[in-house]
Amino acid sequence: MSAEFFTRLKRIMYTASGILLGLTSIKHLFPSITKQESELKINVPPELQARVEAIATSMHVGMPHRIKVYINKGLSSNSAGNSIFPYGAVVGLSSTVLCHTTNDIEKLGLELCGEEIDWRSKDGQLIAELLLPTREQVDFAIAHELSHIQHLDFLSRSLLAAVSPVIVYHATSILPQFFTIKNPMVQLLPFTIGGVYFIYNNIYYALCHWQEHRADNRAGLCGRSYSEGGITFAKKRIELDKRLRALDDTSSRSKSFPTSFTSHPSFEDRLERLTALHRKQQM
Ligand SMILES: [Zn+2]
Repeated sequence: MSAEFFTRLKRIMYTASGILLGLTSIKHLFPSITKQESELKINVPPELQARVEAIATSMHVGMPHRIKVYINKGLSSNSAGNSIFPYGAVVGLSSTVLCHTTNDIEKLGLELCGEEIDWRSKDGQLIAELLLPTREQVDFAIAHELSHIQHLDFLSRSLLAAVSPVIVYHATSILPQFFTIKNPMVQLLPFTIGGVYFIYNNIYYALCHWQEHRADNRAGLCGRSYSEGGITFAKKRIELDKRLRALDDTSSRSKSFPTSFTSHPSFEDRLERLTALHRKQQM
């Protein structure tokens, strides 16, 4: 195999590695990007900002005042950055956290599964109840996101993404000595890319699931009311998924799509672990 091909492949793969590292970590170094992408232009009540800072303090997250809350467009919370970074961190909470009654939920103008919900219908009423979070649920969601921030969860995900092209390069350069084919590197490259991608995907999603469970556990450990909030959240989401699926087959998590290929474990799995934690706390 020509040294030129080898050098070119190395350059491509190391460049890809750097680009992947940059793309996956930029939103955390500049959390305003995440905010801009998903922010709903709703003012954050000062008491909600104070509540996030108080929970962060109780969790020993450094410099809580550098974690800014915003209201996001989705139904789930999200986060980016870290309070020790120059641009701090953000926690995005669903607009449902601002609601006190099901009427407030209806007024949000939410579109679920791409359709407007008839809130006066029996299904609509039930969906509004499922979307209305309890105070414990909101505290759990906040503590869950703070755990992601505290543990710099994005970093291992970014590094894993970044290292995969480098592994492709090294695997492709090592493998030819085991084969007696004409252009081993060229012929083996698609298989190496496929193999590394397959292994990477499995490791990546396993890592994501582990981090999600750890964030649930960390939040639950803040106190029994938090684990109760987590349990309520998971139960409501399981029910909401069922209701939305009944309205539209293509909505939410499709039954045919295994959770091992999504970044979040199933709500059933999360519920089981949170229930076990809650039981322990009662002993
Ligand atoms: Zn999470």
